[in-house]
Formats: sequence, C-alpha cells, structure tokens
Amino acid sequence: MTKTQPNETPILTRTTPAEERPAVREESRDILDAIDAAMEEHADWLRKWHRAVVCGLPPAREVVSKHAQYLGRFGSWFDVHASRNLLDQPVFQELWSAHVDKHERGRSLALKAIDGEPLPARDYDAFMEKVDRFSAIARRIRDAFQRAVFDLDPLTGVHNRRSMISELSRERDRSLRTGSPFCIGLCDIDHFKSVNDRFGHGVGDVVLLSAVGRLIANLRAYDSIYRYGGEEFLLALPNTDNETARSIADRLRQALSKSPISANDDVSLPITASFGLCMVDGLVSLEETIERADRALYRAKDEGRDRVVLWTDEAAADPQDD
Ligand code: GH3
Ligand code: MG
Ligand code: MG
Repeated sequence: MTKTQPNETPILTRTTPAEERPAVREESRDILDAIDAAMEEHADWLRKWHRAVVCGLPPAREVVSKHAQYLGRFGSWFDVHASRNLLDQPVFQELWSAHVDKHERGRSLALKAIDGEPLPARDYDAFMEKVDRFSAIARRIRDAFQRAVFDLDPLTGVHNRRSMISELSRERDRSLRTGSPFCIGLCDIDHFKSVNDRFGHGVGDVVLLSAVGRLIANLRAYDSIYRYGGEEFLLALPNTDNETARSIADRLRQALSKSPISANDDVSLPITASFGLCMVDGLVSLEETIERADRALYRAKDEGRDRVVLWTDEAAADPQDD
C-alpha cells in the first residue's frame, strides 16, 4: 500500500455509486419484461383483430374500444411509467406512437368491417405496415435491453461471457476468410486475492473497475475486452500479428503497473497483471485457442508474473505447461 499522490487523478471516475447499480439493472429488467409483454400482447391482439375482421366473429374489447391502447399490460405500464427518464427517450416515444397508431387504425378498420364495408387491400396493407413498424421498434428495444441486462458485467461494464463465444467465432471466421491475423489474449491480475484480504472486497471492486478503465484506454477502437472470470479478462485483437499483439499486451501491462491505483482518498495500490496470448489459426478450434492462451498465461505466472507470454508450439512441448 502507498499513500495516494496528491496530483493523481483516478483513471475511471465512478459516476454511479455501487449501491445504486443494482437498481439500474432492475429498471432495465423491468423495461425488458414490459417490452416482452408488449410483443406477446401485440401478437394476441392481431389474432383477435383478424378473427373480428376476417372471420366476422364478435370483436374483442381491446380491438374496438376507444381506449384500447391502455387496456393491455403494456399500455397500462407505459401510462403509469411515462414520466421515467428512460421512457422520455425518442425511441420509446416512437414505440408508443406506433402502438397508438396501430390501435387507432385497427379500431377504425374493424368498425367498418363490422358495419359490412369491404376492406380495400390498400387499407389492409397500410394497417399491416403499422403493425410491422410496432414489432420492429419493440424488437430493437428488446435486443438492446437484453444486451444491457444479460451481456454486460455489472461491476466493470464490459461484456461478460454470454455473447463472447459467438462474437469471437464471427471474428475468427472473418480472419480465416480474409487472411488477416487475429490474436486472443487472457489478462489476469496478479495476487488480487491479497487486495481483498488486506483492504476488503469494496476496495477490491474499485481497483478492478479502475484496472479495466486502464485496459480499455490502451486498447484500439476495434479491440474487444470481456470479463472472463473474477479478475481475468479476455482480449480479442483483430488485424493483429504476433509482434503487434505482444506490443499491445505490453502496453496494457505497463498501463496497469506504471502507477498505483487510487482506491479511495487514503489508499492507492500498485498492481500488476500477467498476459497469455495465442494467435488464431484455422487448424485449431476457438476453445483450444483460448486454452492455449490460458497455458501461456500460466507460464507468465510461473515465470514471475507482470509479463506477457505468447503461446508457441515449443511452449506446449515444455513439461512446465502440462
Ligand atoms: P494470481 O497472481 O495467481 O492470479 O493470484 P490471485 O490472488 O489473483 O489469484 P486467485 O485466483 O487465487 O484469486 C483471485 C481473487 O480475485 C479471488 C477473488 O476473491 C477475487 N475476485 C474475483 N472477482 C472479484 C470481484 O468481482 N471483486 C473483488 N473485490 N474480488 C474479486
Ligand atoms: Mg489473479
Ligand atoms: Mg484469476
């Protein structure tokens, strides 16, 4: 432990206190549930509309009521929560306007059909376009919130493992197709357990968050970082040959070790990390590539930590790696 330097500014400023973050996640989950419900109801409502207009069955209330847009779970949820900041965003306003539009047009066509008026194909097509517009916006929002709730690590804000394999597979395919080199790395913070043991988990969390900030600040715009495990991160470095990968990993290593991380006003901690790298190769699966990067990481730990090791066939032949 060293005292914080007066002129040192924390690398990543935490804008949202830890205790508030679960609430943000809860809110995202709540919105995700509401959008899921909206999509389910929408399909159900469309079936009822067709039964009334096409089959001539007595129309359901949610098809012909003047207040149909407020009757379902989604309508009443949006009405109650409309003042939430998030729902103020243009995309939610667009969703609501598509919802209202579809109900109004659906209602007016259903009332005409009940009165025995034929439904011109043009009007039907225009109505179905509104139906599709609502579905498209709802799907877009649902996908974005699904990523926010399930694909992001809540502590560090980087991607977790959920979407990692599919994204790495896509990048590996692209690399093999185009012949552009692709390197995968694992970065593990050295002796991190002792940070928790000496200063508590809260300090450990802040250090982890700042360490990630330093890594991100030293990656290129097209690199990716995933939280692979507790204090272990996977790096995806596209368009990167082995020498470039080594120098990027070394830059990250130095960014972590160059100065202590400020955990709070009184404590700042020097940290280091070890890196294992492996080039993607068409003869080896993605899983095996990650496994090889892991073996290189273990070698970096064995050799004294705070270093970068690139996996090579020679390394695999070394009994130390077995
Ligand atoms: P090594 O140099 O061999 O990697 O040693 P290490 O102490 O980093 O390795 P070890 O795997 O024994 O310990 C990892 C520690 O990381 C243990 C765990 O408590 C801590 N950790 C994992 N995730 C988190 C987290 O989200 N927050 C905090 N504060 N600690 C975490
Ligand atoms: Mg570690
Ligand atoms: Mg570890």
